[in-house]
Amino acid sequence: STAPVTYGRVMLKISGEALMGDQGFGLHPPTVQRIANEVKSVHELGVEICMVIGGGNVFRGLQGSAQGMERTTADYMGMLATVMNALAMQSALEALGVHTRVISAIRMDEVAEPYIRRRAVRHLEKKRVCIFAAGTGNPYFTTDTAATLRANEMSCEAIFKGTKVDGVYDKDPAKHADAKRYDNVTYDDVLAKRLGVMDASAIALARDNSLPIIVFSLDEPGGFRGILAGQGTYTKVQ
Ligand code: UDP
Repeated sequence: STAPVTYGRVMLKISGEALMGDQGFGLHPPTVQRIANEVKSVHELGVEICMVIGGGNVFRGLQGSAQGMERTTADYMGMLATVMNALAMQSALEALGVHTRVISAIRMDEVAEPYIRRRAVRHLEKKRVCIFAAGTGNPYFTTDTAATLRANEMSCEAIFKGTKVDGVYDKDPAKHADAKRYDNVTYDDVLAKRLGVMDASAIALARDNSLPIIVFSLDEPGGFRGILAGQGTYTKVQ
């Protein structure tokens, strides 16, 4: 695609499950490498890239607590899962020659940098991909909220949420053949109709700071690059 990309700095949010390929659990290195290539093709354009990767391919706090674990401990385990995913993505990006930093909301100095906002901004200015790990560092939050928080702190122009489907539908397109995709939808409609874009805290934080969320499919090869140029199908929440 040759259409120009007008974004200067963006947040890419992907779920942990996006990294597991066709497996039911964990990391599928070829899938991680494929996504790293997508990131590289955008990085090559000079776009400054922040990333947040979930942890659901390894552990979700709510699942742990449903099985009797103490909730906050289970949530810390979920946050640790995101650190593993961040390291896997860092490794795949660096193998492609893209400079990166993993920046953790929970101190882990031997493994990742601590989160210091002004330092992270400097990394972005130097065109290093910043992978924000350990969510917000707080239990009872999600990595969608972490992505929204960091996108605001880093002055990203939009959050790109890569999913298995090419946007936001009025009902689950996997279950309903007549499900309709929105081209545009408001934050308030997402909240009122409980459309499964992100959790309510993340949507409210994006709304209150006028941060657009672009939902697109990660399964389309070249998708991220195309979506940044306004091509392909996606839903814009704004
Ligand atoms: N988590 C948390 N605080 C945060 C971010 C994440 O406690 O700020 C925990 C929470 O238990 C969550 C898990 O980390 O279930 C994995 O994150 P998430 O469910 O957002 O991952 P995704 O669904 O995107 O893979």
